[in-house]
Amino acid sequence: MSANTLTLKSGLRRTVSSFKVRFVSLAAFAPVFLLPKPAPAVDFTQERKRMVHEDLRGRDISDPAVLNAMLKVPRHLFVQAKYLSQAYADHPLPIKANQTISQPYIVALMTQSARLKSTDRVLEIGTGSAYQAAVLGEIVREVYSIEIIKTLADQARARLHRLGYANVHVKHGDGYRGWPEHAPFDAILLTAATPEIPQPLIEQLKIGGRMVLPLEGFLFQNLIRLTKQPDGLKKETITGVRFVPMTGEVRN
Ligand code: SAH
Repeated sequence: MSANTLTLKSGLRRTVSSFKVRFVSLAAFAPVFLLPKPAPAVDFTQERKRMVHEDLRGRDISDPAVLNAMLKVPRHLFVQAKYLSQAYADHPLPIKANQTISQPYIVALMTQSARLKSTDRVLEIGTGSAYQAAVLGEIVREVYSIEIIKTLADQARARLHRLGYANVHVKHGDGYRGWPEHAPFDAILLTAATPEIPQPLIEQLKIGGRMVLPLEGFLFQNLIRLTKQPDGLKKETITGVRFVPMTGEVRN
């Protein structure tokens, strides 16, 4: 009885293994169209060129430094794997902790509106994925970026390190108070919408410095540029926008 079972089992094993051999050898001769197709390789460099040409230059982004930076920064390495195919599409995408990576055009518009020079030192509030910080890092000397959610700050720091952005520094904390140790700044960008302009940030801006931020109105948000002049702040409205809210002390 047990001998029979053994024979049966080993017979079965032989059948299985010879089936495998036959299947493998058949597959080797199968016509190409019967084999599973490999996933198409996405040419991210090409997608980035399209984005810069159509979505940025094709609109009103003309600063060569901004266009160059956005041609260089690998945006697909700043989005979650499940959104890889949309990395260069002109809309925001979700990142962790219910936050978003801004639409490429808005990143370009904010960067261009800050009127940056290569020698500038810039503060960003709202690191998020660190994409905006990396774009700034391509253009200016030093970037200081503050993120209130610790997991995002840690992830952003690691990502920037991996990609070699040694001039971009990330701190975990509330950006309301700015980063006085590195002030004053030539430009300050807020990438979260605020109901008011935080006073400590105005103080940390140089005379002649620019602050670009989404300011909450009664119903809508507007992208604003403030220029600090010896006699006060000059305020210009750029366009209507929609950003995630700035949290922390500004809401107290
Ligand atoms: N610049 C980011 C997008 C930012 S989304 C990018 O390129 O991906 C806005 C970010 O601001 C979120 O990550 C949010 O956590 C952060 N944030 C909100 N309030 C903040 C505050 N008070 N200080 C610092 N970061 C803040």
